[in-house]
Amino acid sequence: NKQVILKDYVKGFPKESDMLLKTSTITLEIPDGCNDAVLVKNLYLSCDPYMRNRMSHVQGCFTPASPLTGYGVSRVVDSSNSKFKKGDLIWGHTGWEEYTLITDLSSSFKIQHKDVPLSYYTGLLGELLATYFLHEIHGCGMPGMTAYAGFYEVCCPKKGETVFVSAASGAVGQLVGQFAKLMGCYVVGSAGTKDKVDLLKNRFGFDDAFNYKEEQDLNAALKRYFPDGIDIYFENVGGKMLDAVLLNMRLHGRIAVCGMISQYNLEQPEGVHNLVSLISKRIRMEGFVASDYYHLYPKYLEMVLPLIKEGKITYVEDIAEGLENGPGALIGLYAGRNVGKQVVVVAPL
Ligand code: NDP
Repeated sequence: NKQVILKDYVKGFPKESDMLLKTSTITLEIPDGCNDAVLVKNLYLSCDPYMRNRMSHVQGCFTPASPLTGYGVSRVVDSSNSKFKKGDLIWGHTGWEEYTLITDLSSSFKIQHKDVPLSYYTGLLGELLATYFLHEIHGCGMPGMTAYAGFYEVCCPKKGETVFVSAASGAVGQLVGQFAKLMGCYVVGSAGTKDKVDLLKNRFGFDDAFNYKEEQDLNAALKRYFPDGIDIYFENVGGKMLDAVLLNMRLHGRIAVCGMISQYNLEQPEGVHNLVSLISKRIRMEGFVASDYYHLYPKYLEMVLPLIKEGKITYVEDIAEGLENGPGALIGLYAGRNVGKQVVVVAPL
């Protein structure tokens, strides 16, 4: 059983050498006396920014010398649980390894809709379970539900409003932009390379996009794209971008604070200086965790599945082939190497 092991707790930017690939032997059967469990073969693993937090010595963190864990799509190889049988495809919490014995199935779902790429369950279609995430404070995966809940529930968008999305070409951002266009908004995204900017404009239908790394003055850049200001900011990065956005928000604007990836590897988070704009402009800034909205998953599916099948929503994935490329793919998130949702294929279906 090939596994990706966390060597020790991480400080600063994670490196590939913080993880190691280990191979051990396992029996492909549920051990005697292990009731209500499943043994799965992992197929697709999700790389998510929140995983950095779990590499630190914090509550709910990974255990050094053990495999990383995260969300993935797997096939049941053996089962002692009446709800899952051999051959079932499931989505849920699993190990960064070829085979995982799952004894707590409270976050596992049988995959019902198989007429879409199965890897989409690591991104666009990932489901949430309230009981599992009740105490989740560091965010989670589930980019589709995150974009849906953050945009429709937190931002309360109206047709014709101006929307800015940071980390716009990523797993969450690409969907927020497309939802905003479907709503009839004017949408601009920022990303860190020219190719990503092209993707935003030509594939996801953003009205405009810019490379934030090429802008000396983010405030001036935002004024260029939003001469009359921003109604909605979907915040994925934090730091300097947030500071500049605050200066460009319109009266009664909304900021959905989804994530602040620019801060995750810093020992000392950057200060934000323009918060006083919240008062003068009556801005509502609200943090959220997608799992708070787990009950909307059926409604979300009802909306998104037809959109995927009719080609009205595009979903770009960045596929890393093989578990051995998992560490590189994961740390690539913090350097902006991924183009779209980062997935690791452990084994093809
Ligand atoms: P992405 O697919 O967008 O990957 C991360 C991207 O972040 C990179 O590709 C890079 O793109 C950008 N990035 C990395 N470092 C920096 C930096 N220092 N400054 C600016 N941008 C940076 O990830 P997700 O779509 O999965 O996640 C996006 C955000 O949403 C994250 O902040 C994440 O924590 C959050 N999240 C929150 C959830 C919630 O429930 N609240 C659930 C899921 C995600 P670029 O080339 O543009 O720099």
